[in-house]
Amino acid sequence: MTLSDYRTALVTGASSGIGAATVAALSKRGLRVHALARRADRLERLAEATGCEIHRLDVRETDSLHQLIGSIKPDILINNAGLGRAFGSLATAEIDDIERTFDTNVTAATHAIRAALPEMIERADGHIVNIGSMAGLHAIPAALYGASKGAIHMLSTDLRLELEGTGVRVTEICPGRVSTGFYDVAIDDPEISAKAKNSGVDEVTAGDIAEAIIYALDAPWRVNVNRIELQPTEQTYGGTQFVPRRAR
Ligand code: NDP
Repeated sequence: MTLSDYRTALVTGASSGIGAATVAALSKRGLRVHALARRADRLERLAEATGCEIHRLDVRETDSLHQLIGSIKPDILINNAGLGRAFGSLATAEIDDIERTFDTNVTAATHAIRAALPEMIERADGHIVNIGSMAGLHAIPAALYGASKGAIHMLSTDLRLELEGTGVRVTEICPGRVSTGFYDVAIDDPEISAKAKNSGVDEVTAGDIAEAIIYALDAPWRVNVNRIELQPTEQTYGGTQFVPRRAR
């Protein structure tokens, strides 16, 4: 299977950023694309622009998510819906920040895969694309978000093993900083949010990520693109720091 053999795709978190760009890229290549998110106005604009089918749904509504995926039977599932909360400190996270992060980033993606897999296995083809993060592979000072994306990393790699012999492909996309609305949601404090949002570098665009996804989907069937990690040229990670304990 390559992209031209796949017929139907479901993209979660499609109302903005990476999800919306991916819907546009897949629609352009002639697939029937189902776009899922909560914000109806944005979805409607996306449908007008791309011809996609829209589904207004919160991915945390587990029964509805299973039902929808069961009825669509997508060849391609793009688990993209996600958010960051309590960036900066788990010590001050609200209960809701913790629950919402795992429910959206991890639990919903796991349910979506569970709902899509039986049909894919039956047909002996299909492609699951999980949007992870650099934060799932490398340390960043956002433990809650990093833990959720670390889970997506192992979910993706372990699935590859579980699915051996089925013909179903799995790809994890690990972006660094992408220019989207992500940081409007990630940080509550508007001042800190504005600062974090303004990286001052030439950021990767949502369209760049969509093209990476297309590359993985379009690889010849013999090739499983396990993981793509991409970040701005002007962003790096790693190193070490010496930070004396503050006076007690
Ligand atoms: P955006 O905030 O622009 O997009 C997030 C999307 O997720 C929106 O369409 C939003 O739609 C949707 N979403 C959030 N919660 C729910 C929910 N409960 N149910 C359904 N949809 C939901 O950010 P990005 O495009 O940047 O984020 C996309 C993915 O990329 C996320 O998984 C994020 O963690 C990941 N990522 C982003 C990076 C970045 O720097 N931007 C870096 C690394 C990874 P709506 O609110 O309408 O429901």
